[in-house]
Amino acid sequence: MARNAPLTSLPRVGPRTAEKLATVGVSEVEHLLTRLPRGYEDRSQITLVADLVPGDVAVVLGRIVAVRQGRRRGRRPGMLEARVDDGSAALTVLFFQPPPYVAKAWTKGRHVLVMGRTEAKPPLRLTHPEVELDPAGAAGNHAGSIVPFYGTPEGMGQRAYRSLVHAAFEAVGSEQGLLPDDLRRELGLPRRADALRSIHHPATASDLPSLRAGTHPAHEALLLEDLFVLQVALRWRRHRLASQGSLADQLPRARMGGPRGRATVRARAETALPFTLTEAQQRVLGEVDSDLVVRGRPMQRLVQGDVGAGKTVVGLLAAAPMLERGGQVAVLAPTEVLARQWQVQAKALYEPLGFGVAWLAGGQGAADRRAELERVARGGAALVVGTHALFSEGVRFHRLSMAIVDEQQRFGVYQRARLLAKGPQPHLLALSATPIPRSLARTLFGDLDLSLLDEGPPRGPRTTEILPSARRRHAWERVRAAVEAGGRAFVVCPRIEGPAGDVLRSALATAEELANGALAGLPLGVLHGGMDSASKAAVLGAFRAGHIGVLVSTTVIEVGVDVPEASVMVVENAERFGLGQLHQLRGRVGRNADGGHCVLLTPAPDDADRLAILAETDDGFAVAEEDLRRRGPGDLVGARQAGRPAFRLAMTPRFSELLGVARRVAEALVQRGDFTTDARLGRLREAATD
Ligand code: ADP
Ligand code: MG
Repeated sequence: MARNAPLTSLPRVGPRTAEKLATVGVSEVEHLLTRLPRGYEDRSQITLVADLVPGDVAVVLGRIVAVRQGRRRGRRPGMLEARVDDGSAALTVLFFQPPPYVAKAWTKGRHVLVMGRTEAKPPLRLTHPEVELDPAGAAGNHAGSIVPFYGTPEGMGQRAYRSLVHAAFEAVGSEQGLLPDDLRRELGLPRRADALRSIHHPATASDLPSLRAGTHPAHEALLLEDLFVLQVALRWRRHRLASQGSLADQLPRARMGGPRGRATVRARAETALPFTLTEAQQRVLGEVDSDLVVRGRPMQRLVQGDVGAGKTVVGLLAAAPMLERGGQVAVLAPTEVLARQWQVQAKALYEPLGFGVAWLAGGQGAADRRAELERVARGGAALVVGTHALFSEGVRFHRLSMAIVDEQQRFGVYQRARLLAKGPQPHLLALSATPIPRSLARTLFGDLDLSLLDEGPPRGPRTTEILPSARRRHAWERVRAAVEAGGRAFVVCPRIEGPAGDVLRSALATAEELANGALAGLPLGVLHGGMDSASKAAVLGAFRAGHIGVLVSTTVIEVGVDVPEASVMVVENAERFGLGQLHQLRGRVGRNADGGHCVLLTPAPDDADRLAILAETDDGFAVAEEDLRRRGPGDLVGARQAGRPAFRLAMTPRFSELLGVARRVAEALVQRGDFTTDARLGRLREAATD
């Protein structure tokens, strides 16, 4: 079986199970192996309830002997209180707002393993513990062993998930990794199968501390393999680039002062802006310009600037010299909403100067798409704005000389390498709001030069507060006040649909509840990813124009939605979002001199601690550092595909050492004459271009 075989090729896995697993990013057999356990249970460490005192960490294996369900509040299950008895004594387990599946699963007589710190004061109590239902050890067959536990999809137990991991092992676990043996030994790596086995079936308890910390040699092996593949991809690309030259070199040279003595396109565009550029914007444009005059090597630049720093205008103005010389510029955005904003701004800036702007996106009608493709191929459009559709088959550019990739972290390192691997190289300008700490940026984007947009346009103060969900009424008061004063407000929910009153709020139910309740009388609209592009565009347009005052949405607004009048944001279930993501979200408000306010609602009091950094600072770098500290860099670099888990481990103290090894060996490999022909390197080459 191929490692990337679909899950349904495993025995007893049907489409329903596959669909469930997809929600946690597992879609191929291989993912079951590369997705790391969330933790390990050491059955030898199981604690007896009789030995515990309040405040202790409890790992209790027992039976549910009593369950009491509090009264439902609306449609929400009430508090759940259970007694778990392990034969020595019993302790109380409490869930204040159990999700419905928890409420259903906790029944008398069932075996459970509960883990957590007991409350500091008597009686002996565990609140919201980690739970495993029907744990392996309960049946006695795994007693004494070390058992991994995983983040499982809703409705799937540990036992079921573990047996899938086991099946994946049987199917592909012993297969050779990407590297031929000699290379593997040169890198000092264990066999991939051995590394995976140590992670999913640790043999001895003495490995547990390093397995839990993510610093086990097996982790380092996976990390090193990943780093190595990435380094090969970057170096190989650079190698090819150097021999190709830049497509922009073929354009006519710019003349000083522009055609017929008129001002340059850049100067004319800049004059038309309703504001003057910040010093940082001017500096970054200068850096871009100096890349553009170097012949023989296309620009490869990443502009990093916090949310709202004004990257869009930098991108648009960077394009001017290309347009001036008759080149084409493509703008690639990760979402349609974001691409629309580029389209609007590109048109406003460049159409008056005589440059056409074409549009290519997934949701486009066939006739429209054909017409736009034609315009792009003939050179009738100097700018081409769109989503992934820009790079699909059938798109032929007339003279592509620059590609601008917005929110580039969303594309992931691998995808970006692939997107740009096609044909002669245009200049590349990548924009990113995710403030990756400098050291890490260099590591991961080693092939990109870095520009920092470290000063945003002047704007008012933005504040953030964290509130228990139960006090959301306060948030609605802020919303009402803001909208009645002529501002706009966002309400962000973690999902589109779901029952009203559920702890996990949905955009549709929340919108209805607000329209009939706390926000009755205010013009309210809904925006989510399930809508077609025309409706999305219509809603955003109405919000921008002020016909809609309150926009209830999912995270589709996360990147780039730019409505200066938006001054308040309320985020439901903030516990569901990463810190970086919340920072992105709140970047949608307070974009003008009046400033803004963000309310983060959470039903999980434990999470307030993690969120606190957001209330303390509005600085994206500080938030990113904290995120990095808590979670590792995986999500920051967009390598969150389940197949690339090793970046999550990049916190190991040996990271830079491993990176050095990966670099050195990769460089030597790419320089080797037989790199592109050696058949044993086929898998590696595939991975590096994929
Ligand atoms: P981001 O860096 O998050 O992509 P945008 O490019 O969307 O930020 O810019 C945020 C807002 O700031 C926009 O409304 C934009 O028009 C405005 N803006 C950009 N540059 C300036 C400037 N130099 N002075 C004033 N406003 C600016
Ligand atoms: Mg932007």
